[in-house]
Amino acid sequence: MHKIHVPLGENAYDVLIKSDILCKAGELYTEVISGKKALIVSDETVHNLYGARLLDTLRAAGIETAVVTFPPGEASKSLYTYERILNACAAFQLKANDALIAFGGGVTGDLTGFAAATYHRGVKFVQIPTTLLAMVDSSVGGKTGVNLLAGKNLAGAFWQPRLVICDPSLLDTLAPETYADGLAECLKYGVLWDPTLFAQLKEGARFSVTEAQIARCVALKRDVVLLDERDTGQRQLLNLGHTIGHAIEQASGYAVTHGAAVGLGMLQMARAFCPEIFVDIHKALQVNGLPVTVDISAKQIVEALSQDKKRIGGELTIIVPKRIGVCERQKIPVEQAEILLEGWQ
Ligand code: NAD
Repeated sequence: MHKIHVPLGENAYDVLIKSDILCKAGELYTEVISGKKALIVSDETVHNLYGARLLDTLRAAGIETAVVTFPPGEASKSLYTYERILNACAAFQLKANDALIAFGGGVTGDLTGFAAATYHRGVKFVQIPTTLLAMVDSSVGGKTGVNLLAGKNLAGAFWQPRLVICDPSLLDTLAPETYADGLAECLKYGVLWDPTLFAQLKEGARFSVTEAQIARCVALKRDVVLLDERDTGQRQLLNLGHTIGHAIEQASGYAVTHGAAVGLGMLQMARAFCPEIFVDIHKALQVNGLPVTVDISAKQIVEALSQDKKRIGGELTIIVPKRIGVCERQKIPVEQAEILLEGWQ
C-alpha cells in the first residue's frame, strides 16, 4: 500500500492507495472517526456500481449509514444538491464526531466537502475518490465548493478531509474519456515537476496508470498544498494549461471535457512559450487518448478570455513551461491574451 501523509498540523491526514482497499473502508473509517454514523454521498452511477460494497464494509465495522444520491454530472454541483445533503445530515442527526463520506468523482468530493465545511459550522469528512482526476487531484488539498449560475466553484471553502482512500481497481469501470481526463492531470504534474513521471506517461499509460504513479501525483499535489494551502502563490502552478483550457471549455459550450481542454491548453503554452517541448507534449497527449486539435478559433478563445475579464480583474496569471519539470508563474494584462495563442493549431 502507498501512504502519503499530508502534515497540515491539526488538519493532518493520510491518503491511502491500494487496489481493493474499498473492502477495508469500514475498518479504516473507525480508525479516524470516533462517531458511529456515516452519511455517504454519491452520484447515482457510482452508487449503483459500488454502493453496496461500501455499505457492507461500513456496517461490518458497526457504522450506521445513510445515503444521499444525485444525478451524475457537473450540473449537480449546485446549491440544490448541497442543500439536499445538508437536510440529509439533519434528518440523520449527524453529530460532530460522525462524518460525511464523499464516494465518487470530483463533483461528489467538492459538494460533500462543502457540506461538511458548513454543516454545524464544520463536521468531519472522508474522501473515497472513484475517478482518476479525483484520486490525483480533487480529493487532496481541501478545496470544496459548488457552482453558481454566474460561474464554476463560486461558493466554497477550504476544508480538509480526515482520510482519503483510493482504490484504483474502481477505475476499471470509468468511461475512456473520463479516464483520459484524469491522465491529462497526471501529465500536468509531470510537466510541472517530474520529468521521470512525464517520460513514463508519454510511453503509454493509456488506461493503465499504476498505483505508484497515482501515489507520485498525490505526493506532488501534497507538496504544493503544503507550500501554499490557501492558493495565493505556488499552488497556482496547478493551473498550467487552465487559462486556455477554461476558455476552450467555455467556447465549446462544455462539449470539450475539462481534462481534454487542459491538455490542449498545455500544448498551446508549449507552442507559444517553449517550442522545444511541444513534440513531447503532443505525443504524450495522443498516446493517452487526449485530443491535440479542436475546432475552435484563436479569436473565439480570446473572446472567452476577455468575457472573464470582470471576474479575473484585468490580469491573467499564466503558467509558462520552461522545460519538462520546470514552469513559472507570470502575470499579463488580459488585453495581451493574444500572445497565448501564438501559432494556434
Ligand atoms: P465527476 O465527479 O462528474 O465524474 C465523472 C463521471 O464519472 C460521472 O459521470 C461519474 O458518475 C462517473 N464515475 C465516477 N466514478 C466512476 C467509476 N469508478 N466507474 C464509472 N463511472 C464513474 O467528475 P470528475 O472528472 O471526477 O471531477 C470533476 C470535478 O472536479 C469538477 O467539478 C471540478 O471543478 C472538480 N475539481 C476539483 C478540484 C479540487 O481541488 N477540489 C480539482 C480539480 C477538479
